[in-house]
Amino acid sequence: MHIAALDRLDGVSQGNFSSFNVANYVGDDPEQVASNVESAASFVSAKGVAIMSASHSNVVHVVSDPGVALPGDGLVTDVPGLALLALSADCLTGAVIDQASNRIGVFHAGWKGILSNVAAATIRTMLDAGSGAEHLHVVFGSRICGDCYEVPTERVDQFRDVCPQAIRDRTHLDLAAGARAQVEVLGVSHESIGACTFENDNFFSYRRANGQPTGRGGLIVARAGER
Ligand SMILES: [Zn+2]
Repeated sequence: MHIAALDRLDGVSQGNFSSFNVANYVGDDPEQVASNVESAASFVSAKGVAIMSASHSNVVHVVSDPGVALPGDGLVTDVPGLALLALSADCLTGAVIDQASNRIGVFHAGWKGILSNVAAATIRTMLDAGSGAEHLHVVFGSRICGDCYEVPTERVDQFRDVCPQAIRDRTHLDLAAGARAQVEVLGVSHESIGACTFENDNFFSYRRANGQPTGRGGLIVARAGER
């Protein structure tokens, strides 16, 4: 199993998208995006990449082919050699690994994804397909951290009954803390390989871009093998 949290370094994109942008919907040159996606696939020794089309939902798709997936915020596959790529620029990404089969998943969660619990939706899709919770392990990627993610108080209030663990204080949400709680309640272990996208210039950050176009990084995961 291979997994990589993507930063913005060492790609071929130019300008605002410099340089490792893997999103084809932000105005970047499609050929340069394709080159970066190909490089990301090579990081995880994959033959093809299924790319999430995030929609701030808890919709999960089981995929078996490369290309841009239908709109949704979770992807699951059990095809060896097919990578799953979740894009983000501040939102939380996570990979779900089944240590007892070829099944893998990824999810993407901003505040809407935590409220709708896309992490659990992704895990449940894997459980329904036959995975055991005791064999699943979540690896969280990069995201804006709880110190940096300032939101209106009314938004914080939306979490009080649904996922209080995501509340840092009256004006800050901690996406990763919320998702950790959502994963733990299902009996699934987890770790983080990510950093704060807002604080670290090596990552694309929607908030740091402050209205200017910017790229997307994310998390890519693949089970080794032939497609
Ligand atoms: Zn931060």
